[in-house]
Amino acid sequence: MGLDVDDPRRDDGFRRWVGALAQGEPFDWDPDSEEPEFLEWITSVYAGNGAMPVEWINPLVYAHRVELAGRALRSITRQAETDLGPLPGLELVTTPPDDQEPTGVVRAGGYGGRITGMSFAEVAVMVADNVQDWIGHDRNRIWPVCPEHGRGLHPVSEGGVPFWLCEAGRHVVSSIIQD
Ligand SMILES: [Zn+2]
Repeated sequence: MGLDVDDPRRDDGFRRWVGALAQGEPFDWDPDSEEPEFLEWITSVYAGNGAMPVEWINPLVYAHRVELAGRALRSITRQAETDLGPLPGLELVTTPPDDQEPTGVVRAGGYGGRITGMSFAEVAVMVADNVQDWIGHDRNRIWPVCPEHGRGLHPVSEGGVPFWLCEAGRHVVSSIIQD
């Protein structure tokens, strides 16, 4: 994504606003980085609302994560159900923002770590990890398994692409997200 005259990163107000926000909470982001997906989101927030205070952005961060996690979970669940059969109960588990958790809590399945990413690839890796925890707890199975080595795979992301990695020989097995 190249800079153009309409690029909000050239707007001093936008830069001051993002600079004040990007102190680690609710997200850690460098406005000069090339992350088109996050840039598109944060500029749409700015275009729609101007320099909102962080208390107003937190619920938008939560809603954005719910949307990304839901999309990732639908794709991953489809693949898991192809291998394991129906998985009722494998759903997003969410707690809306409150004073204790200003950006709320988003998990898939309810075990494992909370989803904190702000890009689809990051979120997809975290959802995949949650799904593995859920399948382990509720189905007592390891999923997915490398067809070549028979070992459980690890969700990773590189260059914005989430994929399943087999640690035996460290080879890529498949994309985490399949349409
Ligand atoms: Zn393998």
